[in-house]
Amino acid sequence: MSQPSNRRVFMMQVAVGAGALAASHQALAQDKLAVTDSYAKSMGFVLDTKTVDAKRWKKHTAEQQCSKCQLWDGKPTDAFAACSFFGDQHTPAGGWCKNFKVKGAA
Ligand code: SF4
Repeated sequence: MSQPSNRRVFMMQVAVGAGALAASHQALAQDKLAVTDSYAKSMGFVLDTKTVDAKRWKKHTAEQQCSKCQLWDGKPTDAFAACSFFGDQHTPAGGWCKNFKVKGAA
């Protein structure tokens, strides 16, 4: 049985490394923001806008949710999308935090 050439071994290692890199990049890009994250908590982040503490967040309204926020990079049909405020971690369409800014507002 012949041994693979050094060049062939190198090319296989490059292919495996590139695949692993792409997979980890995709995992990072789809990283969901945790409600337990201390910074997210301090911003009042919740997975469901209906659960916002109205006593604490007095400017919150029922219509405010991530899918209607300028900082949310998703389509209306997306369940989750990247939020630029939280470093592109993904937040749910129905989520909310105190940084909500309605799309189209100046
Ligand atoms: S900044 Fe906007 S998109 Fe991001 S968590 Fe807050 S409400 Fe949702």
